[in-house]
Amino acid sequence: MRKAVCPGSFDPVTNGHIDIVARASLLFDEVVVAVGVNKSKSRARLFTAEERMEMLEKSTSQFPNVTVAGFEGLLTTFCEQHGIRAIVKGLRAVSDFDYELQMAQMNSSLMNIETVFIPTSPEYSFLASSLVKEVATFGGDVSSLVPDHVLSRLTQRLAERAAEAEEEGEGQ
Ligand code: ADP
Repeated sequence: MRKAVCPGSFDPVTNGHIDIVARASLLFDEVVVAVGVNKSKSRARLFTAEERMEMLEKSTSQFPNVTVAGFEGLLTTFCEQHGIRAIVKGLRAVSDFDYELQMAQMNSSLMNIETVFIPTSPEYSFLASSLVKEVATFGGDVSSLVPDHVLSRLTQRLAERAAEAEEEGEGQ
């Protein structure tokens, strides 16, 4: 059984992530999408770990060999616990490469684990969760970049955040 992990923060999942997971699911018997739930970073996230996992589960339900899990701490420890020997990462541009190469080499030195790079589909090469959030915050149309159910949650959460910011402003 060949198992792989697709790790990330997925805050929120985009069509670029789904494309990589779909392609990984054709290469491996089982793919685990691992959502980083590190508490230290949770304040910077728009969605909680549970919400990010829920959106991923919905977005990958059409792939029978894909599951979603949370992980805290080292990815290599997660791999060891789940009998996983391969990490799948999407590569968008040269700017991704330096960091990803360093991570891949570190992970392989920590544990005997390979990183498999899948080149982004050209239509998603500019796509990142952070950019989707930024564009949506200022009213840009991101409907072609995320699934519909993610779009509605994103719109709702950004409206909540805007209302909170307004309330805080009034309180000062
Ligand atoms: P992080 O930025 O915290 O590593 P992300 O949730 O942004 O996590 O992304 C997880 C992984 O998904 C990235 O490391 C990258 O490999 C892949 N990825 C993200 N967006 C794209 C995209 N548009 N095309 C291909 N791969 C992508």
